[in-house]
Amino acid sequence: MFEQPSTPAFAEIAVPVPLGHTFTYAVPAALRGRLEPGMRVAVPFGPRKLAAFVVALSETPPAQGRTRAIAGLLEPAPVLTAELLAFLQQASDYYMHPIGEVLRAAAPALPTEAMRSLRAQGFLEQGEVLPGARIATRKVLVVRAVPLPEELGRLGKSQRILIDLLRERGEVTLDELRRHLKNPREAIRALEQRGLLATSEREVAADRFFADDVALEPGPTPNAEQRVAIDALIARLGDVREGQPGGFLLHGITGSGKTEVYLRLIAEARTRGLGSLMLVPEIALTPQLVRRFRGRFGEHIAVLHSELSERERNDAWRSLREGRVQIAIGARSALFAPVHALSVIVVDEEHDGSFKQEEGFRYQARDMALLRAARSGAVCVLGSATPSLESWRLCERGKLTRLTLSARATQQALPPVEIVDLARHKSGPGGQRLISAPLYRALEQCLANDEQAILFLNRRGFAPSVRCNACNAVIECSACSVALTLHKGASVLRCHYCDFITPHTGVCIRCKSPQVVELGLGTEQLEQTLSKLFPTARVGRLDRDTASGVGVEAVLDRLRHRTIDILVGTQMVTKGHDVPGVTLVGVILADQSLAFPDFRAAERTFQLLTQVSGRAGRGERPGRVVLQTFQPAQPAIVAAQHHDYLAFSRDELAAREELGWPPFGRLVAVRVDAASEADADRVATELAAAARVHPAVRAQAVSVIGPAPAPIARLRARFRFRFLLKAAELRALRAVTALVRDRIDKGVAPARASLDVDPVSML
Ligand code: ADP
Ligand code: ZN
Ligand code: ZN
Repeated sequence: MFEQPSTPAFAEIAVPVPLGHTFTYAVPAALRGRLEPGMRVAVPFGPRKLAAFVVALSETPPAQGRTRAIAGLLEPAPVLTAELLAFLQQASDYYMHPIGEVLRAAAPALPTEAMRSLRAQGFLEQGEVLPGARIATRKVLVVRAVPLPEELGRLGKSQRILIDLLRERGEVTLDELRRHLKNPREAIRALEQRGLLATSEREVAADRFFADDVALEPGPTPNAEQRVAIDALIARLGDVREGQPGGFLLHGITGSGKTEVYLRLIAEARTRGLGSLMLVPEIALTPQLVRRFRGRFGEHIAVLHSELSERERNDAWRSLREGRVQIAIGARSALFAPVHALSVIVVDEEHDGSFKQEEGFRYQARDMALLRAARSGAVCVLGSATPSLESWRLCERGKLTRLTLSARATQQALPPVEIVDLARHKSGPGGQRLISAPLYRALEQCLANDEQAILFLNRRGFAPSVRCNACNAVIECSACSVALTLHKGASVLRCHYCDFITPHTGVCIRCKSPQVVELGLGTEQLEQTLSKLFPTARVGRLDRDTASGVGVEAVLDRLRHRTIDILVGTQMVTKGHDVPGVTLVGVILADQSLAFPDFRAAERTFQLLTQVSGRAGRGERPGRVVLQTFQPAQPAIVAAQHHDYLAFSRDELAAREELGWPPFGRLVAVRVDAASEADADRVATELAAAARVHPAVRAQAVSVIGPAPAPIARLRARFRFRFLLKAAELRALRAVTALVRDRIDKGVAPARASLDVDPVSML
């Protein structure tokens, strides 16, 4: 056989299967000299053909066995750049997750055409379903204002709303009207016939983030603190060498103008021809942010969101890779965007739990942003009003540089927080438990002033926890300090970390009082309750049931345009919304998030309370917060009352250090699930036993906690068990984890097992 030295005959291929290594394939003559690392190819694998990635090329055949040949090239150019490929290999190592699955999770799905031709050749993985491609533009009906006569005559309710909207804005699209009116076409037709409005059709981008026009605007002049932060960041731009700290924590209170800092940094990078990546918690919740970016950078941004078709996503990737677009915005998975000359990575609201991928390749995008930035010499900014304790600790250890914005950009003060002790206010007006008298009066006043309110209720509160009515505490495990979970059938309280079990006698384990009650949810009716208490108020609701994607934007839009007086919602209402009319924020039951069986429960409660409080009083008028709780003296609640992050982080870090929880110790969760409880239990026990024989566990450098049934003990008809590996030192922890990984790779059927390095969700 002859071949040229520069055309390697073998390729290392990462195949998307749960195996930790790559496979060597022969490069067929037709592809010699055409393959590059990062390209997608089709390869035979067992009886199937799979789309896989070239990670390296080599001259030397594998030591043993027959090599099969690559079946074909799927794309003309590498989908993964060299920078990404190297970064992802390190991520795969860190999370001990198979490289093939990591690469598949990072790259956009193959464009539909490529998949179709694959399928025609029988290459497709069985059972894989492909959504169809979407068109790039669509037509919308636009309703425009016309000069109105003095006397409008009689107008129906919908017609009145429509006329008011047009007076305010000049024109509105039909799509938008649907958010305000049940049947907008009827009102439009009636008013058009009377010459009170005009309509036309317009072609708009199908991508809703680009559908409306946004005028370019230079943005406000930074204030002194913003200036300091911007200068510090720009000073490092293009000057971070590998291994040097280029990481910053931007700690700025809610409304302090963090976004303006990001915008200035990214603008500077852009004028120097450098690329930027902006990660946000949930793109659906941040249409306003995208609008601000478009206002600064026009169409020169790529918004990576879940509604893109494969084609659109692949197009976005190509334009980023080629440097035609230099700014990418997106949620967690945008971490992998192939931004050309990557020089800035921003993680906004870095404390947010959504940066953690909880399925398949489990990764923490915030941590990986720091890694990717350090590798590629980019400046990395983590921004938050309530930084995660992990990031805060990195500052204390000098690994991140802290920048502070201590005042609101609009000069408005943070709202005062009034605590309502629910143990004293047994019931509010009309016997309502959910709305105490102080909250009722605050709502009444807010509505009378023609202002708006947001009421936050944490429906994800973990139902079967118990609270003592005498000492008002949630009953916790003394070893783990997480809430115990009530199992009604067996009538026991159980710790879902260490598996401590105690009979539920109805008596408080702390104070022996018999007044132990279930911490029920009871919040489903809140919306109805409000409509009864305030019949003229327009009440809206925002949660996973009422809103997804476009629906979220619609509800937020109605809030912004004041067609909602009171917005009721879950965590979704706490995120960065900037609505000037909102002056009152009410927290229905602060205790719910404290009752989570999770060592981060206090941290999450503080974050939620601070973030939701930050929604009040962002406009001209001052805001106020009414916070209902059974535990007014609980440290997380007291700190939230005083907007005191420093006090909270100091106390909470001390408590974590004592028990060795992160950020002091490191954790790996090993999760097992199976169709039968016995199988799940047995495999979890076996894996934990395997870990326990490691010398590091015997020497107590690593502890094995559990196994125990997961707090959500059964999910999608599978029983779930898990145990934790905990250590102060990373190396010992990794050694034990590797042992468990090995044991899992040998097979655990019929159960499934997975590793979660640096776990976030404890459910
Ligand atoms: P954060 O991201 O910290 O919550 P934002 O960047 O959303 O804060 O800023 C809050 C509000 O203050 C926005 O309406 C923004 O336009 C405005 N703002 C930001 N910086 C300034 C400034 N230097 N001068 C005046 N207004 C500003
Ligand atoms: Zn008690
Ligand atoms: Zn415990």
